[in-house]
Amino acid sequence: MSFINNWLRSDIQAINAYHVPPSENMVKLDAMESPFPLAEDLIGQYLAYLADADLNRYPNPNALELQQSLRELMNIPDAFGVLLGNGSDELIQLLALACEAGDTILSVEPSFVMYDMISKFTHLNYQGVDLTDEFEIDLPVMLSAIATHQPKLIFIAYPNNPTGNSFDRATIEKIITSTTAMVVLDEAYYAYADDSFLADIAKYPNLVLLRTISKIGFAGLRLGLLIGAQDTVEQLDKLRLPYNINTLTQVSANFLLSERADIDANAKIILQQRSKLSSALKTIDGLKVYPSQANFLLFKAPKANQLFENLKQNGVLIKNLANTPKLTDCLRVTIGTSKENQQFINIVEQFYGQ
Ligand SMILES: *Cc1c(COP(=O)(O)O)cnc(C)c1O
Repeated sequence: MSFINNWLRSDIQAINAYHVPPSENMVKLDAMESPFPLAEDLIGQYLAYLADADLNRYPNPNALELQQSLRELMNIPDAFGVLLGNGSDELIQLLALACEAGDTILSVEPSFVMYDMISKFTHLNYQGVDLTDEFEIDLPVMLSAIATHQPKLIFIAYPNNPTGNSFDRATIEKIITSTTAMVVLDEAYYAYADDSFLADIAKYPNLVLLRTISKIGFAGLRLGLLIGAQDTVEQLDKLRLPYNINTLTQVSANFLLSERADIDANAKIILQQRSKLSSALKTIDGLKVYPSQANFLLFKAPKANQLFENLKQNGVLIKNLANTPKLTDCLRVTIGTSKENQQFINIVEQFYGQ
């Protein structure tokens, strides 16, 4: 037996690592990234801005300027607190660290896998509550699971990943008011959704939101935020590692997020492309396309595994969920540029001989 097999917690050894497939030279439609690079006319200005960064110094510890940039971009009221994370993944971990031994984290399934993984990393219990066949929350089932398991934290992705839909607002409100848990609404896809719970933070003391800039063009910067009541954020901030947002991220985001017109215009293009791609997929016999409030589409397809492989051989990478519980025959495609989406749809049409 090797050293590490003897040494490492057996539950960690048993976990499958978060798998990122190779994607070099492929049309990358697997990870909900934005397909739009930095506008060319901004590159010079951006580099000049970067050149001013003091890389010999530790980053600004509270990143107040960056907090202000995010408040402006996302219209976050001054009355709410903002906590920054190295991606919203780090904030999910920070919330788990705030729990006590024996506590339970509850979420719905299928949903974002990090809720489950981070619960395991941090020795917490994880309880998944099944969504209905149409990926809605079954309120009585959810309330009864909450009553049984008494979770400390409830994570709900709104809109949900990997299904793409947003849950019923009244259902979520009932969940928030029926529990003493902290309810974390993960709004990673807020830019592509019709609804948000941002304003509701003022109403519900146990509600916090997560957001990220990963899905609006800046996945490479690793920057997420938690939005909640000021006193909640003040306490949670004690668990944040000092300097968790590096200088290059702070400086880059301050510059890039000020270009709000570009960010909004790109989101608008993605929404148009989502509707176009959804219509195109729906014309193919046998495909079921689920409604989406995000920058991706989930669809159920005959011979899904083969279609996935066929797309890959033709240079298009999407996400294969066909072998995941409750997502049999399902694939998830991120909305790309018009050209990328056309490439994708051509291959799908050819595969089904249409
Ligand atoms: C992509 C995603 C995240 C991760 O965001 P990062 O800020 O890149 O860590 C969090 N939650 C959901 C639901 C996501 O889909």
